[in-house]
Amino acid sequence: MTNPTRPRILITNDDGIHAEGILAVKAALDAVGEVFVVAPERPRSACGHSITLHKPLRINRVRLADGTFAHAASGTPTDCVSLGVLAVMEERADLVVSGINHGPNLGWDLTYSGTVSAAMEGVVMGIPAIAVSVFSYTDEAVYDFAAKFTAHLARMVIEHGLPSDTLLNVNVPNLPGADIKGIEVTRQGRRRYAGKLEKRADPSGRAYYWLGGDEAIDDLEEGTDVKAVADGKVSVTPVHMDLTGYSSLDEIRAWGIE
Ligand code: MN
Repeated sequence: MTNPTRPRILITNDDGIHAEGILAVKAALDAVGEVFVVAPERPRSACGHSITLHKPLRINRVRLADGTFAHAASGTPTDCVSLGVLAVMEERADLVVSGINHGPNLGWDLTYSGTVSAAMEGVVMGIPAIAVSVFSYTDEAVYDFAAKFTAHLARMVIEHGLPSDTLLNVNVPNLPGADIKGIEVTRQGRRRYAGKLEKRADPSGRAYYWLGGDEAIDDLEEGTDVKAVADGKVSVTPVHMDLTGYSSLDEIRAWGIE
């Protein structure tokens, strides 16, 4: 029996169905509503907002490490939101939560992020959405505080709704709750990667290239997501689907293209 007063929450991610972050956020969101997990069957980090158009998609029922059942899909995180809402939840979803991602999604990461793109797909489908990430690049990621905070924020989003065409992008420092310095509502900052391309030789001497590069270079401007997390705070950024550079409209019009 479904309870009509309990919010229905779709959880997805881009780290794959068996990622630790899903278990943590699922345990916390169980107290907020009825939870459905539909996530990629394998890791799909940095796949952006890609969708699968030219081959069939499959959903398999799998058992998670906590003993509960979830849905593993053959597609991307964005596919998982479509499949989750339309096929698994029969078009009744009140909230999409993407994460908890292992690794930050800050500044320009957003344009590559499968985690944030899944939340964007929620917005496209008219469902409020939250993307959540923990700032860790090692196996020592702690999800407790991020999970608790996501449940808190989920309740607020369900209560207040979100402005149109807007999702919340949350980044949490990789710290125990007691060491977190606060919560800050931020704007998207800038972050880029130095030494992005590495050229190497394969055993036969032929060149190959490795993308990814060194650590990110963050512009630590006050008020940005990168700065808040660098200061040990949780960053909550409202992200709008409209990417128009409004401040540039007049300058581009002045070229006389029109
Ligand atoms: Mn990821």
